[in-house]
This record gives sequence, structure tokens and C-alpha cells, in this order.
Amino acid sequence: MMEKSSVEIFDENYSIVRRKIADAAKKAGKREEDITLLAATKTVDVSVINHAIESGIEYIGENRVQEFLSKLPDYSPVHKHFIGHLQTNKVKDIVGKVELIHSVDSYHLAKEISKQSVKNNITSDILVEINVGGEDSKYGFSPENAKEGIEKISLLDGVCVRGLMAIPPICETPKQNIKYFDLLYKLFVDIRSQTIDNSNIDILSMGMSDDFETAIECGATMVRIGTALFGRRNYNI
Ligand SMILES: *Cc1c(COP(=O)(O)O)cnc(C)c1O
Repeated sequence: MMEKSSVEIFDENYSIVRRKIADAAKKAGKREEDITLLAATKTVDVSVINHAIESGIEYIGENRVQEFLSKLPDYSPVHKHFIGHLQTNKVKDIVGKVELIHSVDSYHLAKEISKQSVKNNITSDILVEINVGGEDSKYGFSPENAKEGIEKISLLDGVCVRGLMAIPPICETPKQNIKYFDLLYKLFVDIRSQTIDNSNIDILSMGMSDDFETAIECGATMVRIGTALFGRRNYNI
């Protein structure tokens, strides 16, 4: 049998993912349109990404600055986000080129985004990354320090905090992630209810291929999905 092409794999998966999002949204008492599907496109060829965009994908997220910049001239029109760990010295390369940076994992990084944004006369929308499982291998603010961190970041010029992002620990089943998603949702509601200058908190970015339905049921407004759309590939986050 011939192997399926990347485009065929996407076509099969896309309708399934959309239906699952719609079902989970309904369970959460929301409409399908209330949930933003962001396609995580690391290692995916631009031709396949553009096919996905033609098929209805409106948001994409890339992980690596070099890869993003090399694909940038060729993307069809789409909302472009940065979702990977961002080194401070690379900030200048992407500020102004992406609509949202999901992965602001330190005050130091936020400060550099601020500096480059002010230099370019723009405001950068950012999410603050939470290391919700307290894992050494992951970046981000601990849930305990999140509020203080966000307040501090919000004082910087040229950045607007739009919400939270997290990659919970890998769990055997999506159900085991509920405690992390619940904690993140609580934190989200908590900071959203405060009036913090230079913030406009309305995005909770959590849920990936293996757990996005659970994440939506727990209050995610944006899910980042790679494998469930494009199939398995080799990469490290
Ligand atoms: C790769 C990646 C995803 C998507 O992961 P899948 O399990 O392939 O859906 C989501 N978020 C981030 C930050 C990623 O790097």
C-alpha cells in the first residue's frame, strides 16, 4: 500500500480535531468559535502548512526562531504565533513579526521584548508561561510566583499581557492532567479579575494533541495542536 502523503494525513485529521473541539466546547458550555485552534507547525513543510491554511487553519505557532524566519516569506496569510522557548538574544529577530509570544518564561525575557518593542514603536502581545508541574526540565513561572511576575511584567512599556500558557507534565491519561488544567484556570480567572495596567487578559493557552479536549473542558481558550493534525514526526520540544 502506498504511504499517505502529509496532505492526506492532515485532511483526515483536521475534521476529526475540529469535531472534537466542537464537542469539548459544548461540554464546557461554550461555542466552537470560542476556542482558538492553533496548529503547532514545527518541522512541518510550508507547502503542507499552506494547505492547512487553505483548509481553514487560521492560527499557526512555531517553536524555533530560525525555522520560523526561514518559513516566513512563504506562509499564506495567517495569524502567526511563537510558542517555543525564546532566547533573549533572538528576541530582536521576531518582535513585530509574530502576533503573540506564548512562551514568556522569565522577567528577563519580558524586559528584552519590552526593549525591542519600544525600539520598534510597537506593543507586543505576550502570554506568561507557567511551569505548572514545577518540573526542572520546563521553563516558566511557578504558580505561586505567577501573579507577582505578571504584575511586574505589566509595568514594562511595549508589552501587553494577554494571558497564560502552560505545558503540563506528561501524564499517562488526559484525566491526570485535570488538576493542572484546573489550577491554571483558577490562576487565569484570578488574574483576569484584577485590574492590572497594560494587560488585557483573555487567553488561556493549554492543551495539546493528547489532552486538548480535557483542557477545553477545564477552560482553555486556545489549544496548540501538532501531532493530532500533522501526524507523528521527530522533534524535541
Ligand atoms: C509541539 C508543541 C505543541 C504541540 O504538541 P503536539 O503534542 O504535537 O500536539 C504545543 N505546544 C508547544 C509549545 C509545542 O512545542
